[in-house]
Amino acid sequence: MLLEVKNLSIYYYTLAGVVKGAENVTFNIDRGEWVTFVGESGSGKSTVAHAIMNIVPSPGKIVSGEVIFEGKDLLKIGKEELRKIRGKDISMIFQDPMTSLDPLRKVGDQMVEVMTVHGVPEDEARERAKELLEKVNLPPDRLDYYPHQLSGGQRQRISIAMAMAFNPKLLIADEPTTALDVIVQDSIMDLIDALKAEGTSIYFVTHDISLAAERSDKIAVMYAGKLVEFGTVEQIVENPLHPYTKALIEAVPDLWKESEVRAIPGYPPDLRSPPPGCRFHPRCPVFKERSTLKDLCDAVEPEMIEYEKGHFVACHLYGGAGK
Ligand code: SF4
Ligand code: MG
Repeated sequence: MLLEVKNLSIYYYTLAGVVKGAENVTFNIDRGEWVTFVGESGSGKSTVAHAIMNIVPSPGKIVSGEVIFEGKDLLKIGKEELRKIRGKDISMIFQDPMTSLDPLRKVGDQMVEVMTVHGVPEDEARERAKELLEKVNLPPDRLDYYPHQLSGGQRQRISIAMAMAFNPKLLIADEPTTALDVIVQDSIMDLIDALKAEGTSIYFVTHDISLAAERSDKIAVMYAGKLVEFGTVEQIVENPLHPYTKALIEAVPDLWKESEVRAIPGYPPDLRSPPPGCRFHPRCPVFKERSTLKDLCDAVEPEMIEYEKGHFVACHLYGGAGK
């Protein structure tokens, strides 16, 4: 196992109250596996991604849990050791590539620096930077460009090239295609696929479950800071268990067998005071219909159970008292 995340909780201590951004999130990513995290914005997918790198922005704090990467808990090791892993064994790309690019410096210098900080001699790093550009289908003269001279898609290619510098074991990609048009989107997805083909595991974040279904091996569904379902793409798309997952799939016309498109009624809850019991209960159609669940869903938090091999769900309809 490459990555084991156990009971990870992240809170944001804002002036308006404590926002429970992610709570008790547990999952694994195997070597060479692509796992996509889906859910509405604010569901905790990016929060967990940041926590894996131990870069949760202030006022956020990791309040509990473990992030075991190749047997080491990244939340316990020293800053120096973590710096060695970041950008080398684990790389991250963001929705806005400018997050990782300095607007005032040439792209080539920045690519070189990513490598020299990890001990690669400068001339070797220059050579490698050229090769990396070729890998992401950009001409070598782009090394002399400043980020603002490139299009959004080209900038994202540069940030992928930087992330590829050391053939990372894990790539965390937080909505890297959301700001791009469809054709460019596809080419970025191809690059991530190519990285995967070389053995890199992928933690991919999107709010678009159809994008998730296309390329990944597994899907993790998050709702209001909780992981509510986890399984292979086939398990999730063909046999979704959680009412929220079902609603997500039904909202996508292509994935849905019939013709009607339905949006999910209601809004995600305020994470300063999430609903008691199952956080989805105020929006859950099953809860509204099934009287047997009435005292359970709005009072007892459902635990994650393994419904079938590798297919996990947290909902009272399965395995527990609600069966
Ligand atoms: Fe719906 Fe209850 Fe399942 Fe939550 S636990 S998703 S409210 S049926
Ligand atoms: Mg996000």
